[in-house]
Amino acid sequence: MSRPVVTRFAPSPTGYLHIGGARTALFNWAFARKTGGTMLLRIEDTDRERSTDAAVTAILDGLSWLGLGWDGEPISQVARAGRHAEVARELLDKGLAYRCYCTPNELTQMREKARAEGRPPRYDGRWRDRDASEAPAGVDPVIRIKAPQSGDIVVRDHVQGEVVFKAENLDDFIILRSDGTPTYMHAVVVDDHDMGVTHIIRGDDHLTNAARQIVIYRAMGWDVPEMAHIPLIHGPDGAKLSKRHGAMGVEAYRQLGYLPEALRNYLARLGWAHGDDEIFSTSQMVEWFSLEALNKGASRFDFAKLDNLNGHYIRATDPARLYEVMVNTASELGRNADYAGLFNNHDTVLAAIPELQPRAKTVLDLIDLAQFIYAERPLTIEDKAAQLLTPEALAHLEALRARFEALSQWTVEAIDADVRAYAENVGAKLGKIAQPLRAALTGRTVSPGIFEVMVLIGKDESLARIGDAGRGKR
Ligand code: GLU
Repeated sequence: MSRPVVTRFAPSPTGYLHIGGARTALFNWAFARKTGGTMLLRIEDTDRERSTDAAVTAILDGLSWLGLGWDGEPISQVARAGRHAEVARELLDKGLAYRCYCTPNELTQMREKARAEGRPPRYDGRWRDRDASEAPAGVDPVIRIKAPQSGDIVVRDHVQGEVVFKAENLDDFIILRSDGTPTYMHAVVVDDHDMGVTHIIRGDDHLTNAARQIVIYRAMGWDVPEMAHIPLIHGPDGAKLSKRHGAMGVEAYRQLGYLPEALRNYLARLGWAHGDDEIFSTSQMVEWFSLEALNKGASRFDFAKLDNLNGHYIRATDPARLYEVMVNTASELGRNADYAGLFNNHDTVLAAIPELQPRAKTVLDLIDLAQFIYAERPLTIEDKAAQLLTPEALAHLEALRARFEALSQWTVEAIDADVRAYAENVGAKLGKIAQPLRAALTGRTVSPGIFEVMVLIGKDESLARIGDAGRGKR
């Protein structure tokens, strides 16, 4: 029987959980869930200068928000430095690695010479077979692995197929620095082996690293895990993903009002496909997931598609949860004063949400669309709306205000019937009356159904807003 699947997500905590990392995590997670395996989380914090605790927190928060839980405790790579050094020494003892005493100066010269001769800058192996007795005094050596000097190194990849690297193009790379700390290349292999990782799923920017890592696996006599190197996410123009085109941390997506299930669905489609299905639940994704269905071509990030998906999920979400997300998003934006009315009008906003859902692509849209509920009088009237408040329109509004005051029932039906009767009386089209009404009641030209708005904000508030417009208060 084959071993249970173990995947891992191995972010470097030098910044937020960016969108590409989130997608890598999603694929590792889905594959582990699909196969009944586990997904481990390894924080690759060996770069002490660039790694921060804040970034670790942001990564854990980002994964949690996306609903991508990992198994067990997060593993710190730096905490395993002793083990990395131990394996390097083991390779040394086996004669599969060696100490190199080159000074930085020598290495620079080596690089310059190679460049001058039109060769790629590779370490030339000058300490590979030298005796320890030749070691200069006072130089702390690095440990380099003896990479094969001829033949092919083949990466068998679920996405890329067989990728052949010529051994002559790989040099004897460093596995342990002179201060005894491991290089990234080495630490990853030791950790993946010790953690029992069976499948490495990561960005294809690591494909050449895979060839080097295989050299270490072979030297240690360890099984090489299965690999899947997924093409990076590009911008809509095919260029490297820029911030404007989506290269942001997942928390930025949360703040822009995307729901985690929408982002999950969207990220799944960026680099993986199940036929032509665009909208699917996370459990469907897990059920359908396979490494073979990962795309070979780079995917392009498209905000319009994400917005459409998000709109779908907003329409499908229970209003009570949406209200909670609206409040959380508004608080996260740190403008509590602007949104006090959102927090204080729970019942009215909740009642309005079904009216807002069909019109919103993001949670920010929902917050904005609910603005007519929590706006303070006198309302700010947008320019376009103000243009509707002509003297003629204001005369209609004043007449309506008197009629509304006399209405015994404040329901959509009653108001609707009354406005229609009035429009008919004065021989005006309904729109001619309803649009200025909308301008006066919401300050905008677009809103949920205007009679619904009036019921939501109540009779007193409606009459007061119409009165404000009549008095030119804004
Ligand atoms: N820490 C690496 C990164 O953030 C990933 C290493 C790996 O997956 O092997 O790009």
